Amino acid sequence: MSNEWNLPWEGSCRCGQVRIRVTAPPLLTMACHCTGCQRMSASGFSFRSAIPTEGFKVTTGEPVIGGLHGIHRHYFCPHCMSWMFTRPHGLDQLVNVRSTMLEQASSLVPFIETCTNEKLPWATTPAVHSFGAFPPISDYTALVAEYAQHGSRPPAPG
Ligand SMILES: [Zn+2]
Ligand SMILES: [Zn+2]
Repeated sequence: MSNEWNLPWEGSCRCGQVRIRVTAPPLLTMACHCTGCQRMSASGFSFRSAIPTEGFKVTTGEPVIGGLHGIHRHYFCPHCMSWMFTRPHGLDQLVNVRSTMLEQASSLVPFIETCTNEKLPWATTPAVHSFGAFPPISDYTALVAEYAQHGSRPPAPG
């Protein structure tokens, strides 16, 4: 099988106590400008890659629930408290991995951006598609297909 995405990918939290591995290509890469993401990521926007659940694994450490402790489960390193990934409610087939945890982050260019109605005036991303809120669920099939064709691939290691 060809490995154009140069998987697997390795990642970790800030302190390294929690390590993760990705073995399936992302379905979509996203930046979210909502004020919740701004606060939780301590940044201008959050940055994530939707990874099929079977292609994501915590290899070291025990992440804990943080954020809103609500139906969308936000996982953090128990020591450095880095927000690492989210298991969204009702979407058991994917995990939203915070792209900056991965060594390949520089290639995981956000393909869509969401909640631009809440964005900081100076915060811009190179996303191909922008949405004031979130795209309608019916748009995702086309977005995922477009990303599979055009999303930027991380280079081979070394
Ligand atoms: Zn940590
Ligand atoms: Zn958000």
